[in-house]
Amino acid sequence: SLAEKLQGAFNQLRGKGKLNEKDVKDAMREVKLALLEADVNFKVVKDFINTLTERAIGESVLQSLTPGQQVIKLVNEELTNLMGKTQSKIDFGSKPPTVILMAGLQGAGKTTTCGKLGSILKKQGKRPLLVACDVYRPAAIQQLKVVGEKVDVPVFEQGNEKSPVDIAKAGLAHAIHFNNDVVIIDTAGRLHIDENLMQELIQIKDAVTPNEILLVLDSMTGQDAVNVAEHFNSQLEISGVILTKLDGDTRGGAALSVRAVTGKPIKYACIGEKLTDIEEFYPDRMASRILGMGDVLSLIEKAQENFDEEKAKKLEKKMKNQSFDLEDFLDQLEQIQNMGPIGDLLGMLPGMNSKAMKGVEVNDKDLVRTKAIIQSMTPKERQTPDIINGSRKKRIATGCGVHVSEVNRLLKQFEQTKKMMKQFGGMEKKMKRGGGFK
Ligand code: GDP
Ligand code: MG
Repeated sequence: SLAEKLQGAFNQLRGKGKLNEKDVKDAMREVKLALLEADVNFKVVKDFINTLTERAIGESVLQSLTPGQQVIKLVNEELTNLMGKTQSKIDFGSKPPTVILMAGLQGAGKTTTCGKLGSILKKQGKRPLLVACDVYRPAAIQQLKVVGEKVDVPVFEQGNEKSPVDIAKAGLAHAIHFNNDVVIIDTAGRLHIDENLMQELIQIKDAVTPNEILLVLDSMTGQDAVNVAEHFNSQLEISGVILTKLDGDTRGGAALSVRAVTGKPIKYACIGEKLTDIEEFYPDRMASRILGMGDVLSLIEKAQENFDEEKAKKLEKKMKNQSFDLEDFLDQLEQIQNMGPIGDLLGMLPGMNSKAMKGVEVNDKDLVRTKAIIQSMTPKERQTPDIINGSRKKRIATGCGVHVSEVNRLLKQFEQTKKMMKQFGGMEKKMKRGGGFK
């Protein structure tokens, strides 16, 4: 992954005392290759590396005693700058209704995102209306209605016989009449950039003068997404981008290139098919995510130093009386990772060595993330995970710069482990009664 490749580049610097210019340049070459492999636009990479090299050599990196860390910090800052520095909000304009025109290729996620956006804005106290202007795809109107119903946001449609321009105008009039203060217009997409479609979008734009023209981009298409963005922006002058399917994009190329190529901010990130899988886009958090949560290696080193016998004994006891909590879980992850006694212990239980161990197997990166998530919790949450509700999850995720879905995954993993602990406790009792293992 990109994070691993970047870590590799930083690794070269880590072992060294003071750096010279060549060390920095070598590391930058690695960073460059990693970005290109991640499908980041070539020109963007070139500029990025130039800026970065200049800063790395110009600033105090060469004098620093921890040059590796300094370079990581610089890369993190420049990645953040590349994606627009700060979070960019929806421009609601001065007079409602705010009109948001959604554009993009077929399958990018426009219709789904209309529902997601409607849902977020509704939670913010707005009264959004979705308008169905995709009259070409047979099931498009129905799809928008289903989405609207799920998030409890009204949908305006006039079937598929009128022109999208007329429907958009009628939708706007409807919104004004019914006091909807945001109008989100779903439009048709084609598989490829298509001039007729572009003309239609321009006509809709002229008819309803949107406050926002948001380009919905499938981040999994990498470089293509960037080309699409360039084209839509030149024709339609978009105001921002919504990146979808970031959950499936391991490379991060589109996220890193789009802003630099179009000059337009990424406003939201969609991270799954569910209608709650949307987040405001924070460049700094995305940068940390791409870097694999900052200083991964030193945390790993620390975790390995901290392995101890005492903890293992304590954990064993906890397993028996089932007072296993998230703090213990974290300890256990570290122990298992080091192939410590608990790992061995569990491995010796029948049926547990392969299948059950799978759920608690961790790699270095997961461990760091898990640790960050648990550290973002209050002591009370760690001890009684049952109290972690939706808003707590959000706070925890924000605190450590991960997605809420990762907090959910961690909690699920914890529950699985706990269940396993129970099973273990049960077996112990059986053994004492003379049952024993089969
Ligand atoms: P449209 O043609 O642009 O309107 O795209 P749709 O809204 O119909 O979405 C196309 C497909 O992409 C659907 O199967 C969606 O469920 C899926 N999709 C949309 N957004 C996301 C996302 O953020 N992550 C994932 N994994 N799938 C998404
Ligand atoms: Mg659609």
